[in-house]
Amino acid sequence: MTVVELIERKRDGGALTPQEWRELMTAYAAGDVPDYQIAALAMAVYFRGMDDGETEALTTAMLESGRMLELGQLKVPRVDKHSTGGVGDKVSIPLAPIVAACGVAVPMMSGRGLGHTGGTLDKLESIPGFRTRLTLEEAAKQVERHNCVLIGQTAEIAPADRRFYSLRDATATVEAIPLIAASIMSKKLAEGLTGLVLDVKTGAGAFMTRFEDSVKLAQTMIALGERRGCPTVALLTDMDAPLGIACGNAVEIIESIEVLKGRGPADVREITLAFATEMLVLGGTVPGPAAARARAEQALESGAALEKFRTIVAAQGGDAGVIDDPASVLPKAPIESVYRAESDGVVQRVEPRIIGRAITALGGGRTKVEDTVDPAVGFLVHARPGQQVRKGEPLATILARDDSGEMAARAALGRAFTIGQTAPAARPLISHRITKEGVEELPGAGAS
Ligand code: URA
Repeated sequence: MTVVELIERKRDGGALTPQEWRELMTAYAAGDVPDYQIAALAMAVYFRGMDDGETEALTTAMLESGRMLELGQLKVPRVDKHSTGGVGDKVSIPLAPIVAACGVAVPMMSGRGLGHTGGTLDKLESIPGFRTRLTLEEAAKQVERHNCVLIGQTAEIAPADRRFYSLRDATATVEAIPLIAASIMSKKLAEGLTGLVLDVKTGAGAFMTRFEDSVKLAQTMIALGERRGCPTVALLTDMDAPLGIACGNAVEIIESIEVLKGRGPADVREITLAFATEMLVLGGTVPGPAAARARAEQALESGAALEKFRTIVAAQGGDAGVIDDPASVLPKAPIESVYRAESDGVVQRVEPRIIGRAITALGGGRTKVEDTVDPAVGFLVHARPGQQVRKGEPLATILARDDSGEMAARAALGRAFTIGQTAPAARPLISHRITKEGVEELPGAGAS
């Protein structure tokens, strides 16, 4: 069967067999199939979709195009979390050390920021010396020694996905649920996990802006995890406004350390503890959610989670002085200016996409995979939807490297904030819990 025939079949609504997907992805990872043919196939999938069996076949094919993190010899459970991404979403950074401090191993493989969303790797790399590019052997050793590693996708993990994902990015074929699910799960399943928790964001700043699509994406990923023996649970969380106060790379590290010190914004702390609870329950070392939550809170209060983060930072070559004095260790933007309310009223919206794109324009994000990011720039978003404000009150702080960046950021804030007279409807921070059994609504849970 030639590649052209496979494209034709998909174009006409047919399906590729698991064997065909395996051969195609192996050949693609080896550079033996040109990008233009895979681009045509991706577009055919975009319009024709894939059923569960075919999505699983593609996931397996991409997973098996590379190697796995060998952690099978570990006695402790291994659980990770994946977020579909958003603005101000630094949850992985405090979460991983909390869970690791509670005895569950966290081999966390994260991504870089792209488009309007930030990436955990860029945030971690704002810590001087912090290495996110470890080999699989180094990563496995660190998990054995410290229960946790924070790395990026290596060249050996799902190489077919690596090529396929950047191709999709350039061919307007990212937004296809089966392709997103297969892409994410091929990398997560390569971590050799015993459990996975998904943070599926919903709202204006999320990858999936429609609620039904968020649920469908969660269910597709859960089915893929469960079928490969990795129990998977998802929480749908709000991304209709930036999460927390800090939006940018270095400032999000400061806020993450605040959470680890038992402080930090209530929404970041709440989401972090909710995910820690799910991860500990999946890890099976606690009798249930209440005990898991108490355990996670105790890891914060006792300082065990903070010490675990210190250990991880040092083990990965970072300056561990960041824990005690983040402001003097992390890069600082030369310009800091306050953006104030132009009238009295209630904050109705803080558009997360505008804030996310403005971070990129400041130099703190990427428009192309190969762009470098400025870790120091970004925003502190002080005002939140529903908050009463007076004219002249600070709504945000701009962190910029030059005057033109500051001016553009100021204009963006003018578009991001809507001040009116009526309070917006409150949105729950965590709205649904999704498992293989179904979708459970969490009424008013942690309303922001
Ligand atoms: N993240 C991924 O890793 N893959 C996708 O397709 C989308 C988001």
